[in-house]
Amino acid sequence: MIEGPKDRYSRQERFYGIGQEGQQKLARSKVLILGVGALGSALAETMVRAGAGQVTVIDRDVVEWSNLQRQNLFSEQDAEQRLPKAVAAARRLQSVNSSVKVEGIVADVTVDDIEEYTRGSDLILDATDNFEARMILNDISARDGIPWIYGGCTGSSGISLTVVPGEGACLHCLLDELHPEGETCDTAGIIQPAVQMTAAYQTAEALKWLSGRQHALRGTLVSFDLWENRHVAVDTSKLKRADCPTCGKERTFPFLSASSHPRTAVLCGRDTVQIRPPKAQKLDLAEWGRRLAAYGQVDFNSYTLSLRTGDYRIALFPDGRVLVHGTNDTGTARALYHRYFG
Ligand SMILES: [Zn+2]
Repeated sequence: MIEGPKDRYSRQERFYGIGQEGQQKLARSKVLILGVGALGSALAETMVRAGAGQVTVIDRDVVEWSNLQRQNLFSEQDAEQRLPKAVAAARRLQSVNSSVKVEGIVADVTVDDIEEYTRGSDLILDATDNFEARMILNDISARDGIPWIYGGCTGSSGISLTVVPGEGACLHCLLDELHPEGETCDTAGIIQPAVQMTAAYQTAEALKWLSGRQHALRGTLVSFDLWENRHVAVDTSKLKRADCPTCGKERTFPFLSASSHPRTAVLCGRDTVQIRPPKAQKLDLAEWGRRLAAYGQVDFNSYTLSLRTGDYRIALFPDGRVLVHGTNDTGTARALYHRYFG
């Protein structure tokens, strides 16, 4: 028998965990993917090939040559034209599966407008590159009852957690165990297998949830390092905190209020944006100097560190305050901030 388009999902339907009924549920689902860099590309491709009903990707960046080693939806042409990632990704995704409703949105999602995008989603997949965005997502998820799946990777390691509102721990409950500050893909580099492994953990959970097989969800925080050959899974059911401000008894959703965000201000007439972290810090500038040395010219003394990279000069102060010289655009400044400081 010759196969045709109607057979597209036959192998997935034959899989005992999904079946025809699960496939039909999946076909009615709406998935939102925040970020379409390396992880977002892998997540979006899997969800579109699997036949989710609607897949929306949101990203503010453009495709660059250094993305092509791991961001599997993009081509050399996209990098040459510096196409917005959301546009290039949506184009590619739609050509992979024309029956899925694909939407690409070029935007810098902030706490002020995240709800516009999350409303109506059955599931949110995290492919952002910073912890601030994840904590906002975690609060929105708890407040509006939308599950989300955390995923992060740098170097050869990755981590993932499925957060279902009302069940188990949320990301805020685990904050003390996670040590979110520190390395990013721009400072530690990254290899493609770490991306694919993280995406596999996220999309397997996504397929379970969207095909109605909640009982199969993992229930653990997984982390791995493919170079150091480590793999850890922690049962999170006992880590749920009764006093968690996001999912506990008295919820305040602190990351939805402005006070917990890096505050951004354009310094008039100076082509400079200032970013202040939510809490003052005590940074070791020498340590940061070593970490950032590969990315440009670094100079520091005990008062300030300066990194020259491309068209920008970034000044870091011991209290965590950052000045980005060379732009008036807060979005560009925030992107640089997250690139180097997580
Ligand atoms: Zn919590």
